[in-house]
Amino acid sequence: MTIEFAHPPVPRRALVAGGAGFLGSHLCDALLAQGCEVICLDSFVTGDAANVAPLANHPGFTLVEADVREPVRIEGPLDRIYNLACAASPRHYQADPLHTMMTCVHGAVHLLELAEAKGARFLQASTSEVYGDPEQHPQAESYLGHVNCTGPRACYDEGKRAAETICFDLARQGRADVRVARIFNTYGPRMRRDDGRIVSNLVVQALAGRPLTVHGDGTQTRSFCFVADLVAGLQALMEADPAPTTPVNLGNPEEYTILALAEIVRRLTGSGSDLAFHPLPTDDPRRRRPDIGQARQLLGWAPSTPLEAGLAATIEHFRLAAPAPRPRAVP
Ligand code: UDP
Repeated sequence: MTIEFAHPPVPRRALVAGGAGFLGSHLCDALLAQGCEVICLDSFVTGDAANVAPLANHPGFTLVEADVREPVRIEGPLDRIYNLACAASPRHYQADPLHTMMTCVHGAVHLLELAEAKGARFLQASTSEVYGDPEQHPQAESYLGHVNCTGPRACYDEGKRAAETICFDLARQGRADVRVARIFNTYGPRMRRDDGRIVSNLVVQALAGRPLTVHGDGTQTRSFCFVADLVAGLQALMEADPAPTTPVNLGNPEEYTILALAEIVRRLTGSGSDLAFHPLPTDDPRRRRPDIGQARQLLGWAPSTPLEAGLAATIEHFRLAAPAPRPRAVP
């Protein structure tokens, strides 16, 4: 079922921390298209300047290179702050776990301090990872989660949990108007080729005719949301009035096994790639599917892009961005 999304009123000046990343850059595009002035802040650890390069000459767009682990200073008024600043794929967030944890914790503190100083609304990008390897299915916001706090995913899971704590502590103190989005697996154009996540890996591998890497036996599940739907959900949450008093799940509740996803990617790309099975990473969640009842009820939001349509756009992106084939050696 498709629910029409009512466009929110337009804010005037927004800061998007992590704005050169996959999600952040699509959010910058959407805000600018709606007439909002956008300050995009990124440390470029995983963000990519190419994602926002087409915006460079837009009169409403400013790019600031800064790291949210340090206090953030922005001149002039702000009425919205989106905190999307953190590596989000397991490969990247585990590469420097302390950096990840500090980005989550100090980033939330510094940006909330800025929100307090400017009187801006604040949205924290949290994650389905706060549910860990869930024992409740599908996952509703009321589920308290099943996270291994000493495992390799903990730097991200616990970092995001701490960021949520900080948000609601400051909200209870009346210091900030906060909203927390628990974002489930999201895919689309501008995912990094080396992101390491399942959709980008499968598409890049299929287009190159390489084996499709499947962890474990491929029966684990995920639910995949197209980036444009997710960005609309973030904006709907930001503009909701009054703010929901709990975090809100944003994602697509259609659930697929990894094997089923690999089959769809193989069919859509016309690839003859075989499957290559690899060990399941430590603490890899067995099942994941959002309960989006709250988002439907409080925001009037639900995703509308079917998986195959979203994958087609993603495949097109990687086809166009494909590295040029190596010239054949002349015998
Ligand atoms: N996965 C896989 N092959 C890959 C990359 C990931 O089978 O090349 C699996 C991974 O182990 C997990 C699922 O796909 O079970 C989703 O992984 P991803 O890294 O995209 O996101 P996660 O939901 O685990 O954060």
